[in-house]
Amino acid sequence: MKHQQQTSIAEIKGIGPETEKTLHELGIYDISDLLNYFPYRYDDYELRDLAEVKHEERVTVEGKVHSEPSLTYYGKKRNRLTFRVLVGNYLITAVCFNRPYLKKKLTLGSVVTISGKWDKHRQTVSVQELKNGPHQEDKSIEPVYSVKENVTVKMMRRFIKDALQHHLDSAADPLPEKLRIRYKLPDYKQALQTMHQPETRESLQQARRRFVYEEFLLFQLKMQAFRKAEREQSKGISHVYPAEKLAAFTDSLPFSLTNAQMRVLREITADMTSPYRMNRLLQGDVGSGKTAVAAIALYAAILSGYQGALMVPTEILAEQHADSLVSLFANEDVNIALLTSSVKGKRRRELLERLALGEIDILVGTHALIQDEVEFKALGLVITDEQHRFGVEQRKKLKNKGQDPDVLFMTATPIPRTLAITVFGEMDVSVIDEMPAGRKQIETYWVKHDMLERILAFVEKELKQGRQAYIICPLIEESDKLDVQNAIDVYNMLSDVYRGKWNVGLMHGKLHSDEKDQVMREFSANQCQVLVSTTVVEVGVNVPNATIMVIYDADRFGLSQLHQLRGRVGRGDHQSFCILMADPKSEAGKERMRIMSETNDGFELSEKDLELRGPGDFFGKKQSGMPEFKVADMVHDYRALETARQDAANLVSSEAFWKDDEYSMLRAQLLSSGVLEGEKLS
Ligand code: ADP
Ligand code: MG
Repeated sequence: MKHQQQTSIAEIKGIGPETEKTLHELGIYDISDLLNYFPYRYDDYELRDLAEVKHEERVTVEGKVHSEPSLTYYGKKRNRLTFRVLVGNYLITAVCFNRPYLKKKLTLGSVVTISGKWDKHRQTVSVQELKNGPHQEDKSIEPVYSVKENVTVKMMRRFIKDALQHHLDSAADPLPEKLRIRYKLPDYKQALQTMHQPETRESLQQARRRFVYEEFLLFQLKMQAFRKAEREQSKGISHVYPAEKLAAFTDSLPFSLTNAQMRVLREITADMTSPYRMNRLLQGDVGSGKTAVAAIALYAAILSGYQGALMVPTEILAEQHADSLVSLFANEDVNIALLTSSVKGKRRRELLERLALGEIDILVGTHALIQDEVEFKALGLVITDEQHRFGVEQRKKLKNKGQDPDVLFMTATPIPRTLAITVFGEMDVSVIDEMPAGRKQIETYWVKHDMLERILAFVEKELKQGRQAYIICPLIEESDKLDVQNAIDVYNMLSDVYRGKWNVGLMHGKLHSDEKDQVMREFSANQCQVLVSTTVVEVGVNVPNATIMVIYDADRFGLSQLHQLRGRVGRGDHQSFCILMADPKSEAGKERMRIMSETNDGFELSEKDLELRGPGDFFGKKQSGMPEFKVADMVHDYRALETARQDAANLVSSEAFWKDDEYSMLRAQLLSSGVLEGEKLS
C-alpha cells in the first residue's frame, strides 16, 4: 500500500547508512513504507481492575509497596526479588526475576506502576516493567514493531514518530470519501497516526477497521477487475439448446432435484448460454448430487451441438463416473466413452477417431484426456471432479483442446466460503448446500485405542450382516515409510484375526497404480470385506456396501480430511458408522474428535477447521494462491471481506469507477499491480 510520494528514509533523523540497510531488509525503502510499517502487537499499559483480569493475562497496576523487598539467590546469577503491593483493596505479590538492582529503587510505602503477567491463583504479578511513581496515561498503549539487528523497537518508534510529524501532510487518502462515510471509517492520516500512536483501544480498533477494509477492498478489486477483463476478452461459446429437452431429461431422472441442485443448475446454464467462458467452482458435500448436476450440464452442451469431457483423478473413479453417466443417459441418444491407460492399440485408435469425428458425446477419463493425441471435434464443456488434484497446467491443457470451452470444477472438499471467495476469487462459486432427502447420518463415535477389541467385535457384527469395512491408518506424507509400515502391521494383525472368515485387503501409496486399482476392484466386488488403507482411499471411491470405517489415530487428521474419509461410508441404504480411535493429548485434538462425533455437515466442519487451524494451515501445506494480508485476518474479519467483495463488484461494474477522480488512487493501485494489463494474478 503506497499512498505517499516516494521520499527516501534517509530524510528521517537518525537514519544513517547502516540503519538504512537494515530497514531495507525489513522491506522499508521510503517514507510511505515506514508509515505503513504497522506494529505487530501493542503493549497495553492501561490500568485495569484486577478482578476482571484473567489468569495469565498481561496487566498493568498502580499500587503502594507494602513490604520490604526480599531478594533470594538460587544459583550464581539467578535470583528473585519479591515484595507485596497494595492495589486498591487488593494485596498482591510482585516477583522480578534476575534484576537484583531493582531492590534499591523500591521504598516501603511509595507508589509504583508495574506491568507483567497475572497469576490469578497465586495473586502474583510476574513483573516485566517497573516504574516508580503513578501510572502515566499518555503512555498506556505502546506499539511493538518487528525489528532486527541494529534497529531496536525504540528506534523504530522514533523514526515513525519523525515520519508522522514531518511527512504525513503529503499523504492522500486512497479511499473515496463516499465509502469512508458509509462505513464511518477514519481518514487515512488519522488512521495512520492512530495505528502508531493509539490513545485508546477504541480508536485503535477503528483505525484497524479502516485498514482491514482498505486491504480487502483492494484485493477484491484486483480479483474482480481481473475477472472482468477476462470475461471481456474471452470468446466463449453461447450454448443454444431446446430448454424443454433439457427439462424432459431432468424429469426422467429417478429422483427429483433438490432445491440446491436446481439453483446451481440455473447458475451453470446461465453461464453456458452467455457468450462468456464459464469459469465456475461447484462445491457440494459428498453425496450432495454433483454428478447429476454435471450430467445435466453435459447434456445441455450436447444438445447445443458440442462434446463434453469429464476428468477425474483416478482410473477407478473414471470407471465409476462413466458407469453412472451411462445409467443416467440410459434413455437418451448419448454416446459415452471411457479413456484410460488400459484402452490400448486398435481400440484406442478407434475411440480417438470417433472422438475427432464427433461421434462420441462425452469422454470420461483421467489425465489421459489431456494427452496431445486426444482431439475433440467440438469441445464445449469441460468438467473436472476434485479439481484440487489437478495442476493448473493440466487444466490449461484441457481447456486448449476446444475453443474456449466452458469449465466447471467440482469439489467435495467443503472450502469455507471465506476462503472460497479469496482463494478462488477469480472464479464464480456455486454451492450445493443441501442433501437429498432421507439421507441417513453416519453415526460417529470417538473411542480410545485400548477399546480395540470391542471395536473389532463391532466391525465383525457388521461383516456378519454382509457389510464391508474400511480400516484407515494415518498417512501424513505419501513417502512416510513409518506410516506405510503402520498399515502393513494393522493388515497383518487383521488377517490373523479374520483368517478363514473374511478377506482383508491392503492399500497404500507405495503400491503401483495398477495394484491400487486391483485392490479397489476386489473391494468393490466384495471379494474382500475388510480394506486396510492409508488415506489414499480418500478421493471419491464409491462402495455402497461398506458401512463401517475405523480410523486409527484419528486426532492426527484435520476435520476436513476426517470428513472426506468418513464420506466413503454412508453411501448405500444401510446405517453406517465411523469409529474414531484417538487418545489426543491436546485440547484442540479432543475438540476435533468431539466436533466430528457431533456433526455430519461438511461446511460446518470446514468452518470449524478454519477456526481451529487458521487459514494458513487449512490446505495442509501453504497454498501458493493464498493471499497474505498485513492487517486483515480472513477468519476474524470475515464480515469485512464480504462487504469489500460486494463493494468491489459494484465498483468495477460501474462507469464512475473507471473515470472519476475520486477513484484515481484505487485505479492507480490496480495498474501498479498489473491487473489492468490482463496480467494473471498470483
Ligand atoms: P456427489 O458426486 O456430490 O458425491 P452423487 O452425484 O454421486 O454425489 O450422488 C450421490 C447419490 O445420490 C447418487 O446415487 C445419486 O444418484 C443420488 N442423488 C443425486 N441427486 C439426488 C436427489 N436430488 N435425490 C435423491 N438422490 C439423489
Ligand atoms: Mg461425485
